[in-house]
Amino acid sequence: MSKRPLLLTLFLFSLIFSSFAYCEQNILIFLGPPGAGKGVLCKKLSKESLIPHISTGEMLREEQANQNSPMAIELSEYIKEGQLVPDEMIVRILMRRINKPDCKNGFILDGFPRTLSQAHILEKSLPSQANLIVVNLKVDDATIVKRLLGRRICSKCQQPYHVDFFPPAKKGACDHCKNKLITRNDDCEVSIRNRLEIFKDQHGPIEDYYKNRHEWVEINAANPVESNYSTLLEKVNAVNLDFLIDFPDRQTH
Ligand code: AMP
Repeated sequence: MSKRPLLLTLFLFSLIFSSFAYCEQNILIFLGPPGAGKGVLCKKLSKESLIPHISTGEMLREEQANQNSPMAIELSEYIKEGQLVPDEMIVRILMRRINKPDCKNGFILDGFPRTLSQAHILEKSLPSQANLIVVNLKVDDATIVKRLLGRRICSKCQQPYHVDFFPPAKKGACDHCKNKLITRNDDCEVSIRNRLEIFKDQHGPIEDYYKNRHEWVEINAANPVESNYSTLLEKVNAVNLDFLIDFPDRQTH
């Protein structure tokens, strides 16, 4: 037999293996009810580790505010009512984002998956060597309601605050970009109730799915932000010391 097909096969194999070698991704998935503090913790971690933070809720609010988006009106209805946006819409938006070059070494996911089928879709779309840690934030209902009713977000960068528990340095203005703070239109009692109910329906199967597959970290997130953040770092480092590579050197404050 000629050597050429064999060499070609070897070449193709080496190409495939070398491309896989560059595909290793560190992915942190944050699960938890609305108001658990996913956004605050993810933003802080992203700022200090330089791992991109991807919040599906934030991307949807940006899409909703985009007057040229054909999806904007439809999205507004779902979000205002506290209902989940259909999988095909959210998956399209998410895939567009995680395929960008800054995500090639990993990313922090906040607000996705919210259903078992979203978890399946994500799993299939990741390279087999993806290194996944799932962080499950647990908070009681009374704390959630108090947090959501007092939550404000920056109208520009969407940084979350709380009027009592996590206030900005200057009332009504974002510490980072100085823009005006607003109340999200889904932080009202009807929508909060819907979002909590949906979370309780959907969370169990997602938890079972991930606990059997990936590293699972649980945090009692009813504590103040700084304390939750220290617990997060401790627990993530305890399951995988390489996860936040060079993390202490990259701290910005
Ligand atoms: P969040 O900012 O994570 O609280 O999300 C705000 C709203 O965006 C949710 O109440 C849903 O309406 C929608 N949303 C965010 N992420 C998802 C998702 N993964 N699947 C479906 N809807 C989502």
